Amino acid sequence: MDVALAVAWLRAAAASVTAETDQLTRLDAAIGDGDHGVNLARGFTAVAATLDGGGFTAVGDVFVRAGATLIAKVGGASGPLYGTAFRAVGKALPPGAASADLADLATALHAGLDAVRKLGGAEPGDKTIVDAFRPALDAFEEAVAGGAALPEAAASAARAAGEGARATAPLTARKGRASYLGERSAGHQDPGATSTWLIFQALADVTA
Ligand code: ADP
Ligand code: MG
Ligand code: MG
Repeated sequence: MDVALAVAWLRAAAASVTAETDQLTRLDAAIGDGDHGVNLARGFTAVAATLDGGGFTAVGDVFVRAGATLIAKVGGASGPLYGTAFRAVGKALPPGAASADLADLATALHAGLDAVRKLGGAEPGDKTIVDAFRPALDAFEEAVAGGAALPEAAASAARAAGEGARATAPLTARKGRASYLGERSAGHQDPGATSTWLIFQALADVTA
């Protein structure tokens, strides 16, 4: 993955969360405060703007900038979580390198998930971003270990993220606002897991 592909991924993610704003908002209205779509559309639009003419020479810097922008522009739980994740991805990539190979990218995505878990303290099954991110990373790593190229690994990660997001529906939330509802949070798909799927699907789309 080089600078241009990293920028293309983040732009595609911005377009996708913007197109799905209403859907994400509806999901968050059911078990949270109904701002997830607006939060992410605002945040990723700011990311796309800050990448315009960014003149990046290192691929890691693209993700560090994206993460810092999300942290600055998005309130609520998801801004710091996604922001910290992208920053961790960027910082885990080889410093100064113009591009990253698949093994580097897998390592960096792993660092991104670790950062989300460290900041938010969510375990798998808590009905959060982790429930889409973790299976996506597992699928990505498995594909890479099996010799897959990026398009195949990304498609496999996106599929796993989608399955993970759908599987949050019956769960009771144990982190974030939805946890205030207790068992009443069951029966609704988690908005953050859903946006994580959109972000991995964006990677699959730009690499296909
Ligand atoms: P807020 O809940 O502050 O309004 P958002 O609506 O933007 O923020 O984001 C809500 C999403 O954030 C949830 O659907 C969930 O996936 C995710 N989330 C909340 N808390 C955590 C956490 N501790 N760890 C991981 N993800 C979390
Ligand atoms: Mg919300
Ligand atoms: Mg909110």
